[in-house]
Amino acid sequence: MRKRLTITGLVQGVGFRPFIYRLATEKQLTGWVKNTTEGVEIEVEGSAERLDLFIASLAQEKPAHSSIRSMQIQPLADQDQTGFFILASKAPNQAVPLISPDIATCPECLREIHDSSNRRYRYPFTNCTSCGPRYTIIRQAPYDRQTTTMNAFSMCEKCLAEYGEVTDRRFHAQPNACPVCGPAYRLANRDGRLLNPSNIGDVFSDTRRLIQQGYIVAIKGLGGFHLACNAMNETAVAELRRRKLREDKPFAVMVGSITAAKKRCRLSPHEESLLSGPIRPIVLVDKSSGYDLAKSIAPCNPRVGIMLPYTPAHELLLNEEDFWVMTSGNLSDEPIAYEENDAFARLSSIADYFLLHNREIHRRTDDSVVRIVRNEPYFFRRSRGYTPMPIELAKPVAPILACGGDLKSAFCLTQDRQAFVSAHIGDLENLSTYRYFSDSVKHYESLFHIQPQWIAHDLHPEYLSSQYAMTRDLPRIGIQHHHAHIASVLAEHSLDEPVLGVAFDGTGYGTDGTIWGGEFLVADSNHFSRAAHLLPLPLPGSSLAIRHPWRISAFILHELYGDRLASINLPFTHALPPEWPAIVKAARLGIQSPLTSSAGRLFDAAAALLSLRRSAHYEGQAAIELEMAAGTNKGEILPYKIIEGYPKRLDFFPVFDAMVRKLLSGEDIGHLAASFHVTLAHASLDTLLRIKKDTGLTKVALSGGVFQNLRLLEELTTLLEKSAFEVYRHRLVPPNDGGLALGQTLIAGKILN
Ligand code: ZN
Ligand code: ZN
Ligand code: FE
Repeated sequence: MRKRLTITGLVQGVGFRPFIYRLATEKQLTGWVKNTTEGVEIEVEGSAERLDLFIASLAQEKPAHSSIRSMQIQPLADQDQTGFFILASKAPNQAVPLISPDIATCPECLREIHDSSNRRYRYPFTNCTSCGPRYTIIRQAPYDRQTTTMNAFSMCEKCLAEYGEVTDRRFHAQPNACPVCGPAYRLANRDGRLLNPSNIGDVFSDTRRLIQQGYIVAIKGLGGFHLACNAMNETAVAELRRRKLREDKPFAVMVGSITAAKKRCRLSPHEESLLSGPIRPIVLVDKSSGYDLAKSIAPCNPRVGIMLPYTPAHELLLNEEDFWVMTSGNLSDEPIAYEENDAFARLSSIADYFLLHNREIHRRTDDSVVRIVRNEPYFFRRSRGYTPMPIELAKPVAPILACGGDLKSAFCLTQDRQAFVSAHIGDLENLSTYRYFSDSVKHYESLFHIQPQWIAHDLHPEYLSSQYAMTRDLPRIGIQHHHAHIASVLAEHSLDEPVLGVAFDGTGYGTDGTIWGGEFLVADSNHFSRAAHLLPLPLPGSSLAIRHPWRISAFILHELYGDRLASINLPFTHALPPEWPAIVKAARLGIQSPLTSSAGRLFDAAAALLSLRRSAHYEGQAAIELEMAAGTNKGEILPYKIIEGYPKRLDFFPVFDAMVRKLLSGEDIGHLAASFHVTLAHASLDTLLRIKKDTGLTKVALSGGVFQNLRLLEELTTLLEKSAFEVYRHRLVPPNDGGLALGQTLIAGKILN
């Protein structure tokens, strides 16, 4: 019996053909396997029983990083061939090649670097077809040694033999290298002067010693530089904060082993397997009672972002019990440094030492940040380990470039049903991020051979991403921000019908020229209508109100109590600066005070009223601290108002009134913080029930940066499910503006159809 198997998916550059070869030979089948433009094609011949076994094992035992999108099986006439062969692949044509993300070191390679008798003992660039760098070193497709930054190194005889031997796990492992022929690490001080490895150890033990002594070391890794210091040393962590100009945004921590992680954090089985699997993102986990890392790593936060070593170099650097801060090598919000000269220029005021290597990073990539929500990943940042794998759309779309938004920027290129959402780029607010954005677009277009015919962008005329769209000589489609948020959920879940969309975020340009951000939309992938929204409030002093949320709370309280506000006996009012009456007055007159229905700003205002956070150092900080303050408090539903009409308006003035009264009667801050969450969830449910009455819709999509607030996400999801709504949330792209481009793609594609 002979069969042809046509397999599509990520089956190239991940050791798939050698795996098929081994499997077929093991099952004593004859035939061949070859790469095609869409995937691999296999012909196998043998007894029916063995063929069945082959097909079953293929699906079960396939290489860890491969993924099968489709498999077609076709019966053929017997050919009585002998042997099994790997046939040469045809040159790729116009079909889009899939490029593997970078993969964490596999167990077999780990064993080698710890085995003193192995020729790769302590070699930091050890890799094989199951692991190692991919996306970060590829200059262009097809993926071949010559098209990667490894072409600077010629393989030695031994490496070349592995590379050419089909049964070897390094068969066609493009970054194959060893201490004889491959790249190497070196350690320098901040002036670039090399340090000689001390005679007992090597650069890795030397670096570890420096970290233990309290120094900050810039470490060149897979997708860029990290700034590292000992996470147990409060002085070192505080110093890193000071030098990096990062006041209180949490730092990520690399942990030497899962055992050490479990002593200080509570890990669910899902979190454990994500942490120790092949992707190894930063996972946001709960601190446990044994948590004893430096206080300033994640101040007032019950969670901490941890990751495990994902390159051989990390493995050689950290001992099992080590906890190191590993934060992006940049100054506050710039893109991560990945080139050596740039790193010295930008990081020598931060790092005391530099651990460098001579393998060029072609594309920089930040660490991905994920939380497990109801046993599924929920992204805060999608980057290393995930990109550039495409997200599969339900229907083919025209070749579109969607430019995303300006904060947490990421773009998306499409071809047929594949949406290539870029790695996290950062906030488009300076020339260096803008350049990184436009370079990345160019790189993606050439890497995937996609020539966009259309360009989709946010409606905000001042977004740099919109301005980039203007520079391209392509027909443009402007897309409303919150519609794109909801469409990104539709795209992830292949939903092609109208849904109720709740889009809560900080800022998005509305179709009426005001700033939206607390939106209840009735939306499909083509149209939307604004069925309800939060009652708009002025932002006193415009962007000043975002940095100083007390301004919004002062306005709200003044609306409620007039000038009596000054005599209310609360920490909030006592701390008001003398200029508050002028600021509130200007806001009432609409001077420099644009209106916004933003949910993010409402959180800010609540946090300021509770005196948790009067001024913010980074976007969303006040809201995060409100969530932290709520903790596990149950909270209560405070009175709110829904003003009927079209659109309906959700009025939170009564909520603030109730909070003030409860504060005055000595109510606990944590309880009130929880009550704010509970109230917003109930008010949203109430609003959605009313829209459901008008429309009959029962599917709800949740998106927007505010849904990074897990308390709100949980509360609202639970309430909606109890009321027989079907809830759709993100699991492939972040709810924040990092997911916007995917939604823009879906809408533009639908319009073009
Ligand atoms: Zn490996
Ligand atoms: Zn070699
Ligand atoms: Fe947004």
